[in-house]
Amino acid sequence: MNSTLAGAYKSRSQIARIVTEDWALHEMYCAACDSDKLRALKNNARAADYECPRCGARFQLKSGAGWSERSIPDAGYDAMIEAIRGNRVPNLLVMQYSADWRVRNLLLIPSFFFTSSAIRRRRPLGPYARRAGWIGCNIVLSAIAREGKLPVVSDGVARPARSVRSDYERARPLSRIKPSLRGWTLDVLRMIQRINRTSINLNDIYAFEGELCSLYPRNSNVRPKIRQQLQVLRDLGFLRFTGKGTYEIAANASASLS
Ligand SMILES: [Zn+2]
Repeated sequence: MNSTLAGAYKSRSQIARIVTEDWALHEMYCAACDSDKLRALKNNARAADYECPRCGARFQLKSGAGWSERSIPDAGYDAMIEAIRGNRVPNLLVMQYSADWRVRNLLLIPSFFFTSSAIRRRRPLGPYARRAGWIGCNIVLSAIAREGKLPVVSDGVARPARSVRSDYERARPLSRIKPSLRGWTLDVLRMIQRINRTSINLNDIYAFEGELCSLYPRNSNVRPKIRQQLQVLRDLGFLRFTGKGTYEIAANASASLS
């Protein structure tokens, strides 16, 4: 990254912001089409926004010196849930940079992988905070299916853009599912991955019934819903039915994208 941009800035967070945003503007490409450029949109308090000039895909960059595989602080909880319901969440770029301003890790989470189960409410700000009572949220990365965490840079090494684009393309059919139903599909997919075998049966998935009940307390027909989502995942090419309640995870869906 170009740290000479730091110029007159003194605070490390301001410098980080200038340097990482400049990097994304010059180096980041669109994963949703073959455009080699993104253009900058407005900045908000915590993140920078970009748009693909060719296909209009939106990207948001969040960067930090630390790297948590578990969760990323995001904006207001209610605003995030509303954005998920309204299909207005941008693709998210999560960057970790090193002390000498190199991109150490960069992860792309396609917009259609955000579900309400991946968003956790934070404690309201205390009575003496400037925005007392405001409730923020964390994005829980472990609650996002593996297909939704695309490495762009890993340990300082950039993956070829064509690999990132082909991962994005493989996952894109999920974007056709209505946001109100997509949460179920992605949660079932994530649970299938936790079984960690290429061939599974219905009982393996029913073992997650309790967990799905707690994610969707208003739904009392969890087993039929699970079977319905297995059909959706089959239609999207993530699973194959091999008969008698047995399912095979499609090779492309189990590709290691950890
Ligand atoms: Zn594009």
